[in-house]
Amino acid sequence: MACPSSDCKPGARLLGVRQDDGTIALLPEPLSIDEAFFEKVAAHPVAPERRFRFTNKCVKSGCGQWNGKGCGVIENVVKLFAESHPQAPLPHCAIRKTCRWYHQEGNDACRVCTFVVTDVLEEDINMPSRTAETL
Ligand code: SF4
Ligand code: SF4
Repeated sequence: MACPSSDCKPGARLLGVRQDDGTIALLPEPLSIDEAFFEKVAAHPVAPERRFRFTNKCVKSGCGQWNGKGCGVIENVVKLFAESHPQAPLPHCAIRKTCRWYHQEGNDACRVCTFVVTDVLEEDINMPSRTAETL
């Protein structure tokens, strides 16, 4: 299964780009990232996980967000946001067939997915369009 909110590290692919309104625009297809990309984001003052979303293999119990049964990130985000986004259309997404979040929470995951920013600072949590893996 694929993690749709992984760290920016070798093996990850670029899944989406954070827009000015804080939501994530998913790319038509995940893009491979190369050494030049890593160098560029390393030189930027804002962590790449705050500016982009990356996908990589879900490592289950090797991840601090794994709760023993599934991914705690999407479980929490769906609980917090699904009610306020019940009719939101599903975004086009190239990884749906293998996505851990979709397989766990179904369409509800996709309705809130673009509100998730992987690396979120405390002050963002109070902003309406932000959600966090740390919630
Ligand atoms: S448990 Fe969740 S956050 Fe962790 S690797 Fe799997 S999908 Fe990603
Ligand atoms: S939750 Fe849905 S929209 Fe988000 S990455 Fe997974 S399949 Fe794509």
